[in-house]
Amino acid sequence: MEACNDYYYATRDPIGRDGDFTTAPEISQMFGELVGAALADCWVRVERPGDSIYVELGPGRGTLAADALRVLRSAGFAGAVHFVETSPVLRALQAERVPDAQWHGAIEDLPAAPLLLVANEFFDALPIRQFANGIERRVEVIGDGLAFDRDGEIVEQSPAREEAVSAIATCVVRCGGVALVIDYGHERSAPGDTLQAVKGHRYVPTLIDAGEQDLTSHVDFEALGRAATEAGAKVTSVVTQGDWLNRLGIGARAASLASANPGRIPELEKAVDRLCHEEQMGQLFKVMAIHSPEWPVPAGFES
Ligand code: SAH
Repeated sequence: MEACNDYYYATRDPIGRDGDFTTAPEISQMFGELVGAALADCWVRVERPGDSIYVELGPGRGTLAADALRVLRSAGFAGAVHFVETSPVLRALQAERVPDAQWHGAIEDLPAAPLLLVANEFFDALPIRQFANGIERRVEVIGDGLAFDRDGEIVEQSPAREEAVSAIATCVVRCGGVALVIDYGHERSAPGDTLQAVKGHRYVPTLIDAGEQDLTSHVDFEALGRAATEAGAKVTSVVTQGDWLNRLGIGARAASLASANPGRIPELEKAVDRLCHEEQMGQLFKVMAIHSPEWPVPAGFES
């Protein structure tokens, strides 16, 4: 999974209508703006530490960063921008949107500073392991193709995701900060095979065309929360993307954009529906924050 995704992201821009999948920040500017507002609110409430940095993991085309930073800058945030990104193709696109960013290959390479961090659809792309009836399931080469070596009740684990969360949690405990993790997945750990492949906006068989399709799995937020807590950080409740965006005021933001430009009303209504409706992204996508014990619970979560 790791090798496939390294190759996949290194060789293309997979995001958008002409690609394989579309993400929330590409649906509407409102998504990134509300991320920026949530981060800005935390930063203001801890009295605006001047050395804070904006960090994004897997920033895609840089759209979320550009929208979030517009709001953060308007709140007075003047800190540096750091991206953790491995794909040279996507780094080039990010540089067009956010020219003053600095790039890193791993979370561990980030500078020691208070973090205003967001990861949207980053964790789902990190590799998982599957166990079938307790025995690790492997992928074999059979003839010209690939096949799983066993079936059974599948349990998934992701040491790579837990390591990434531990690294973030260690940073926020040491230097302060907050991290928003947004992804499709489940609030509680449970058995089930969630490995999936997407190509051209359609689900396709996972073991066909290795490295040429988006290979992900659902994120186990309970496992992420456990890893963050073990590293000494605080974690919020896990809320659905729909509830989170509504609590942050997506309705008010849409109304304000609509009154400035009534011609955009149909597009704005459609975007709110796609982002928030339970049959679209509103229910499957979840949001959790990891924060320093010294920093407040961000807006949008149940207290
Ligand atoms: N957050 C963006 C893009 C999501 S796609 C959006 O919402 O539109 C996943 C992103 O993570 C891509 O930018 C991809 O290149 C990056 N990525 C995937 N695996 C990575 C890894 N191991 N390290 C760093 N970046 C990675």
